[in-house]
Amino acid sequence: MAADEFQARRQTVASGLAERKLDALLVAFSPNLRYLTGFTGSNGNLLLTPDRAILFTDPRYQIQSGQETTSQVKIAKGPLVIDIITAIKRLRLRRIGYEPPRMACDLLQSLEARLPMKAAMTPVTGWIEQLRAIKSAAELERIRRSVETNSCAFEQTVPKVRAGMKEQDLAAELEYSMRRLGAEKPSFETIVAGGPRSALPHAQPTAAPLTDGGLVVVDMGTFQEGYASDMTRMLFVGAPGAKVKRTYRAVLEAQLAAIDAVRAGVSTAHVDRQARRVLKGYGLDQAFVHSTGHGLGLEIHEPPRLGKRDKGRLAAGMAVTIEPGVYLEGFGGIRIEDTVEVTESGCRILTPTSKDLRII
Ligand code: ZN
Ligand code: ZN
Repeated sequence: MAADEFQARRQTVASGLAERKLDALLVAFSPNLRYLTGFTGSNGNLLLTPDRAILFTDPRYQIQSGQETTSQVKIAKGPLVIDIITAIKRLRLRRIGYEPPRMACDLLQSLEARLPMKAAMTPVTGWIEQLRAIKSAAELERIRRSVETNSCAFEQTVPKVRAGMKEQDLAAELEYSMRRLGAEKPSFETIVAGGPRSALPHAQPTAAPLTDGGLVVVDMGTFQEGYASDMTRMLFVGAPGAKVKRTYRAVLEAQLAAIDAVRAGVSTAHVDRQARRVLKGYGLDQAFVHSTGHGLGLEIHEPPRLGKRDKGRLAAGMAVTIEPGVYLEGFGGIRIEDTVEVTESGCRILTPTSKDLRII
């Protein structure tokens, strides 16, 4: 990512402070910090004013912060809060925005306990996340590479799958492969669940073997160059029966209908409705227990959300997943998930992996 891209993002925030009646914004949440500065360390706070940006961190990150960010850096000798308060006093800041869902209570309390008389912390919610929802060309390029690595890890691993293999071993093979292909780490805990356990949408892999005659859900993603990917594909050990085939067809049709509805300007709820409408035709809408998709980027789940009750609209440059699923207790679950880029006229499906049910 070019340094001036971070600078431009900080500038956008700096010039939006006045309309929010803020003298500054204090950013503590690491994906937001990374978005605005490029800094990837675990301990940092960014104080943004209309004309300055100061990143506070500790001596462990002295070299790293110098390499990663063009923002001014203050290396604190003790707790960061002491240096932040000193800056607040020196710059005479009164109204300082903070992100309530993104800041630890103890940091807020210790800031408030030390603030000068006329200064106050003011809640600001979702501002940076809203900026992050629309990706730049450089970000989309990274998401595309992350998606490709993820799909490649899947393709390399599937031929090794055999009946009797443990869920945990398959998850480990997938993660090993993604790292070998250049990913930093999985973007969430890889899901591998066989048989009736596939009906748990967020199952953790266990020592259970993949058995003949069972569905296997594989939901996996990577972080590469900081950006997430996310994909779900289904395997079947043995020969699938009529119910598996019909349910699979229903989910695939629902996924394609939702993808078809994606376009800049449409409401996220509209996309979700298309998937539900198809599943209703199969009598399976009650078995679809989550939303149709989510944005992804520096986090695996970030705005927008594509659910029944969500109010947002899609915009060009968003990267979202489309992942309807059906979960039937005792039978199993089927989910199919791609990552797509929203465009003015529709979308670009980034996930290159075939959506056929993989027979093992
Ligand atoms: Zn997923
Ligand atoms: Zn997902």
